[in-house]
Amino acid sequence: MSSKSFNPFAMAQSQFDRAAEFLNLDTATRELLRNPMREYQFSIPVRMDDGTVKIFRGFRVQHNDARGPGKGGIRFHPQETIDTVRALSMWMTWKCSVVEIPLGGSKGGVVCDPHNLSMREQESICRGWVRQLSRDIGPLIDVPAPDVMTSAQHMLWMLDEFETIHRGHQPGLITGKPVGMGGSLGRTEATGYGVVYTIREVLKELGLKAENTTASVQGFGNVAQYAIQLYKQLGGNIICVSCWDQHDQTSYTFKKSSGVDLDALLKITDRFGGIDKNKARDLGYEVLPGDLWVEQDVDILIPAALENQITAENVNKISQRVKIIAEGANGPTTPDADKVIAERKIFLIPDFLANAGGVTCSYFEQVQSNINYYWERDEVLGKLDVKMTSAFQAVSELARKRNIFMRDAAYFIAVNRVAQACKDRGWV
Ligand code: NAD
Repeated sequence: MSSKSFNPFAMAQSQFDRAAEFLNLDTATRELLRNPMREYQFSIPVRMDDGTVKIFRGFRVQHNDARGPGKGGIRFHPQETIDTVRALSMWMTWKCSVVEIPLGGSKGGVVCDPHNLSMREQESICRGWVRQLSRDIGPLIDVPAPDVMTSAQHMLWMLDEFETIHRGHQPGLITGKPVGMGGSLGRTEATGYGVVYTIREVLKELGLKAENTTASVQGFGNVAQYAIQLYKQLGGNIICVSCWDQHDQTSYTFKKSSGVDLDALLKITDRFGGIDKNKARDLGYEVLPGDLWVEQDVDILIPAALENQITAENVNKISQRVKIIAEGANGPTTPDADKVIAERKIFLIPDFLANAGGVTCSYFEQVQSNINYYWERDEVLGKLDVKMTSAFQAVSELARKRNIFMRDAAYFIAVNRVAQACKDRGWV
């Protein structure tokens, strides 16, 4: 990560301010949307396996629910901060809006590192998080989901705690549940596939064939793995991926110019998306410094790890060959890097559009949970493709018509819908 990191919330606010200016929003609407409506910060005491008690810090931020109940993941991360959660909750509002699903924006987190926690300790954190918020979340209030370093198992523990407190089954409380326990087929691959549905549409617009393109990916977790899978199915070639090495406390880029072998890499990857570098060398991968994923001579860059990764410091190292940046991660590009990307006319697919597949499928999961009838995988992915493609086309059409940057176009559409909902409800 860059040493000169942006505060993600300041970054989210500055992006919003541009949209507010363009849309000429009145002062009250700006004030309302620039800040979260509600925030919860609390301590979660956990009895550790060694008998000691450790206090973990937990957060939930509900940015805006004018268009429907809040929706957003819970991230377990040692560097989690309230400002990261605020930014992510705001981006969730725009994300649900841009794909036109009837949900608002929320986000949650716990400052912890699951690498160093047993499953029992993680279960205690999950249950403690729900006990703190049991009156402030719910199928019609605010619906959590997995995010970085949280999984279907974490969601099920949370649901179980909520149902124990409230007595009765409420599978619509949370999404990302295991399939067979109220989860939706297709949810695991939804975000990564959604990224590639949007890449496919850009390739069409640019008159390029996927099989003639190459890509470099930052991250090798849920989003990255499924984006790689579908992009390769379309015929594209991934020449490198990067990930965090827990042991060395740094990131590495794994490069193979002939193309990475997804299945072989998955066999040497831990459940946090960390690749074993010695085994990767044995498989013929060059193991390079983590930052080098961004400097590769490829057509497409897919940041799919964390926020703040394409910055003023490295944006000029992006190869002249790069035509598309598809933001799988939330907030991977800082506003000063954005300016350079816009000037270079690189086709940017902004985060809250590119990675909206996850929340769209979460919405499908809620619908299925509510009607207690579950769709086949192809039906889920077919509906996802339709939603992602039409959201992409609306944004791209506006960008083309008004000759504006894709991020701005996505913001204008998303913010306008939320501002209208606030107005229609009589809030402003
Ligand atoms: P994950 O925990 O499954 O994977 C994260 C990956 O990033 C891992 O491979 C990790 O090693 C790597 N990583 C971490 N720090 C890194 C660094 N400094 N350099 C290089 N690699 C690094 O997480 P995920 O679910 O794939 O989420 C990735 C991003 O996508 C996050 O920004 C998340 O908020 C966003 N996102 C995820 C979803 C989803 O459905 N999973 C939906 C929307 C957005």
